[in-house]
Amino acid sequence: MQHIYADPTFQMACDQFWMIAEHLQIPMNMRDRLMYPKRSIAVAVPVRMDDGSVRCFQGYRVQHTLAMGPTKGGTRFGPTVTIGEVAALAMWMSWKCALAGLPYGGAKGGVYVDPRKLSGSELERLSRRYMQEMIPFIGPHTDIMGPDMGTNEQVMAWFMDTYSANLGHAVPEIVTGKPVSVGGTYGRRESTGRGVVYLIERAAHLLKMKLGNATAVVQGFGNVGAVAAQGLAYKNGMKIIGISDISGAYYNEHGIDVRAAEKHVRQRGDLAGFSGAEPIPADDLLTLRCDVLVPAAVSGVIHGGNAGKIQCRILAEAANGPTTVDADKVLFERWKEIFVIPDILCNAGGVIVSYFEWVQSLQSFFWNETEVVDRLFRVLEQSFGAVIRRAREEKIPHRLAALAIGVERVVKARQDRGLFP
Ligand code: GLU
Repeated sequence: MQHIYADPTFQMACDQFWMIAEHLQIPMNMRDRLMYPKRSIAVAVPVRMDDGSVRCFQGYRVQHTLAMGPTKGGTRFGPTVTIGEVAALAMWMSWKCALAGLPYGGAKGGVYVDPRKLSGSELERLSRRYMQEMIPFIGPHTDIMGPDMGTNEQVMAWFMDTYSANLGHAVPEIVTGKPVSVGGTYGRRESTGRGVVYLIERAAHLLKMKLGNATAVVQGFGNVGAVAAQGLAYKNGMKIIGISDISGAYYNEHGIDVRAAEKHVRQRGDLAGFSGAEPIPADDLLTLRCDVLVPAAVSGVIHGGNAGKIQCRILAEAANGPTTVDADKVLFERWKEIFVIPDILCNAGGVIVSYFEWVQSLQSFFWNETEVVDRLFRVLEQSFGAVIRRAREEKIPHRLAALAIGVERVVKARQDRGLFP
């Protein structure tokens, strides 16, 4: 099929899907319907800059599958965002939501922009105009937005406000990841990182591995990576020996003071100049010897070139798509050495709590943080158990098992609903 999504990340998502399609023996005439997005929207987002000039940004929203309920997924603001990358992320959201048993199809949105180069008011005008352009295509029962890389609670609040202003009343259920003050849920901001830590604890338990004093490396010290690092260090007593962000990678064999690193980022914007660790080349971070490796940044960082050199016991994929298909082949050969927690399971905590937030917003009935966290762990426990059982029964890698469960559920829904007309 000729298509508009040409992009290495989309290709990677397609290659993964094709592997699953072969494994599940999905009929040929269903494969394109499952793989290509159902709807994609591209919009021009004109923004008045602080100096009076007007710049026009490209914005996208991809709704991957409509068979399971409304679509759900974050919005990414980044300097490399393409419609192909957004389509890949939307496809992964479909499999992720299905694996967790959420009543959603996958979606994702994005704007091709470097948010670090915008002032606060420029970011606000961009966020509001992007939402304005999207209004005809989304809705609380059509497509619900959430946060992703480059967006945060404040951006979600602007989205919610812009949508609500258009309707003339508050519509908190249009977006998740918003502040508690406007109908957000307790525990959404921490949810992805908390989920990552929970699954690492479960994996360590299975492997009969003690986490106290074990070492971890966290690539990407953003919302997800920093919360995960905290949980590993302060809840489990692990030593975080390496961290990184856009400014570079940092190493300290005695363990990094995670709170000090967070404070540094809050005050200075990134880790540059952090005195609690030595700068090291970014490429060396992922191949450090450690017990737990957490890629929590962009996709494709573990590839054919470095997969053979990774030296961890547990690979916890907090990012979306950190491991390429080539790397997967290497990791499968090393399955006895490296226990992989695949991305659609590992980082599912975010969208699971987004689902809780949507439910609370729809009902105007709110839960406390303990309820949110308990329910999050219950859903993750079920998904983790299902993936491990499937991998054992069919003697397949964890990623294949996770994707098989997710894709199979979408296939079933498609088949049950039938082809219209
Ligand atoms: N961006 C998150 C993810 O990749 C989820 C966004 C949401 O909560 O909708 O899973």
